[in-house]
Amino acid sequence: MSDQIEPIATMAQELNRLPGIGKKTAQRLAYFIVSMPLEEVRSLAVAIWEGRKAIRFCKTCGNYAAGEQCSVCSDPQRHNGQVCVVRDPRDVAALERMHDYAGLYHVLHGTLSPMNGIGPEDIHIQELLTRIETEHLSEVILATNPDVEGEATASYIARLVKPLGVRCTRIAHGIPVGGDLEYTDEVTLLKALQGRHEM
Ligand SMILES: [Zn+2]
Repeated sequence: MSDQIEPIATMAQELNRLPGIGKKTAQRLAYFIVSMPLEEVRSLAVAIWEGRKAIRFCKTCGNYAAGEQCSVCSDPQRHNGQVCVVRDPRDVAALERMHDYAGLYHVLHGTLSPMNGIGPEDIHIQELLTRIETEHLSEVILATNPDVEGEATASYIARLVKPLGVRCTRIAHGIPVGGDLEYTDEVTLLKALQGRHEM
């Protein structure tokens, strides 16, 4: 990018950090931004900056939240005894897009991966077990991705949860093996949730 004017090159470099934004796209975006009215660029930059600053993790479930608790946890109607266990907050967003699931979530912030040195202590499993007791939860729906790590994580959690006398289910395989919840369409996701089976 040495042929570019320096501030544009810097902009393109920063945009290139974003997922799905390759070098070419980053350059195109940088040139587009330069052509925008300054006030619009300011709104864009402020929205990103303020948005990032305002978001934290829900102290209860680990989902993204604008306050102490996320919008799901702070809604009394969602406390129906069900908790859906997912890998990260983007999975919560995917499930929420179905507008069908009415229970709570628990975000693990990762999956078990011995190859990468990620063990049970590195993801939020203990927090889930604590919640089952304190929130008197009745069903744990394991909605980790249907890949090797997601399946291993689901089995591991099921072994810990079942002795607690709680119903423990796994979402059905409507989602292709090796697939990603985040990129699964709503109908498939809905079928996967409805067709969940006992662990
Ligand atoms: Zn929450």
